[in-house]
Amino acid sequence: MIKKILIANRGEIAVRIARACAEMGLRSVAIFSEADRFSLHVKKADEAYCIGSEDLAGYLNPHRIVNLAIETGCDAIHPGYGFLSENPELARICTLRGVRFIGPDARVIRLMGDKTEARRAMMQAGVPVTPGSAGNVENLDEALKEAERIGYPIMLKATSGGGGRGIRRCNDKKELKANYERVISEATKAFGSADVFIEKCIVNPRHIEVQILADRHGNVAHLFERDCSIQRRNQKLIEIAPSPQLTPEQRACIGELAVRAARAVNYENAGTVEFLLTAQGEFYFMEMNTRIQVEHTITEEITGIDIVKEQICIAEGQPLSFTQEEVQPRGYAIQFRINVEDPKNDFLPSFGRLTRYYAPGGPGVRTDTAIYTGYEIPPHYDSMVAKVIVWGRTWAETVARGQRALNDMMIGGVRTTIPFYQEILDHPDFQAGRFDTGFLAAHPELTHYSLKRSPEETTLAIAAAIAAHVGF
Ligand code: ADP
Ligand code: ADP
Ligand code: MG
Repeated sequence: MIKKILIANRGEIAVRIARACAEMGLRSVAIFSEADRFSLHVKKADEAYCIGSEDLAGYLNPHRIVNLAIETGCDAIHPGYGFLSENPELARICTLRGVRFIGPDARVIRLMGDKTEARRAMMQAGVPVTPGSAGNVENLDEALKEAERIGYPIMLKATSGGGGRGIRRCNDKKELKANYERVISEATKAFGSADVFIEKCIVNPRHIEVQILADRHGNVAHLFERDCSIQRRNQKLIEIAPSPQLTPEQRACIGELAVRAARAVNYENAGTVEFLLTAQGEFYFMEMNTRIQVEHTITEEITGIDIVKEQICIAEGQPLSFTQEEVQPRGYAIQFRINVEDPKNDFLPSFGRLTRYYAPGGPGVRTDTAIYTGYEIPPHYDSMVAKVIVWGRTWAETVARGQRALNDMMIGGVRTTIPFYQEILDHPDFQAGRFDTGFLAAHPELTHYSLKRSPEETTLAIAAAIAAHVGF
């Protein structure tokens, strides 16, 4: 039985995991760097330990984290996303030292973390993969030859890549030559591996991914799909569940493909199988993320299943708490990644002290975050500081709820992506549920909006609200 969990992460996802522990009557242990001393995740766990003065090193040290888990009497570790979540070393050390790792085993993490190995495993399982090189390309000559065979445009991709980095589109031979060394150096720096491979570039695809859950008893279920096509530079900004752009037949097909993918590698715990959907209606496997994803929230909203709790139960050896037939999606959910970036200034990071923070609420609105008024956002970590999730019965109601929630939300002292999302929500194509991964590139005007509410207007609105409240 799991009684106490060390959360090997920070920020909103650490808060999210602590919440699942609290509801399950489990004790939770947070870790933090000096820079994170005042992050809400430190307060939300039952215990918290500083893992060093460095900004990142502590979060990235599997030995230190497992030692701390043992010293504090934890029987399990939840890795969250990013950091060590897809590092097979942490899973391996956990097994070795008798601490449960809440995720798949090291073998599966290693296999799926290598995009060319994963592609091979999927081809064997009969899951269609994006056309591309058989394995890694060893040098520029081989890259040029493979690209010629596959046909331009191609994508040059880092084999160990993630987070939308280490990917370059090359439209011709010249661009491939120019990008080759660049991608290798980016991959080496970011992922510690120089391996690259080539995929056919699918022009204006939709990014459709399927959440799956699998237990130790051979049960594999999918929780339907998410549409993550609203991206900037291959990074997700807005996610939607279910996709408003699939037919019931396509929905059934992709769910079945994802389950087949998970079964093929004997998957256990929560995972996401990512696909590209071509304009011609074909699905291609792209990669599998062997961890909880940032956008798991929208799947929770439409299915009512708490994915983090399921993860903990699966790690404990329990069977899934539901059957495939029992999962029925209800309505739509949208997640907005609130990043502290200035959308009017090329999305430049905007860290600093929050002079004001107000989370939206009301029906169908959820906010996952670790920030609060007065909090100083440290510059060392991801710029995503909150997630606003809205749910509605219909697509139109969900869009309107998104508009209302983002209008309610207040973040002062730093610039955020909120006004940019408001522009997207107002766009007729988005409202019609029509978008592919090229949507933002095709609409540069969305970053040239005029601010919906000026700071002066905001001050006046607050003064008026206070005046009304005290009965002036
Ligand atoms: P998701 O796949 O859950 O939608 P992202 O791709 O946005 O999420 O990644 C979530 C976090 O994990 C980001 O901080 C990202 O930088 C980090 N991340 C994802 N993959 C990797 C990787 N292979 N190596 C290092 N960091 C990664
Ligand atoms: P990461 O591990 O960084 O998440 P992915 O392989 O999942 O990388 O790709 C991230 C994004 O890049 C996709 O969601 C998609 O928008 C784009 N992309 C990746 N591969 C292709 C491709 N072959 N054709 C077109 N777009 C692609
Ligand atoms: Mg991906």
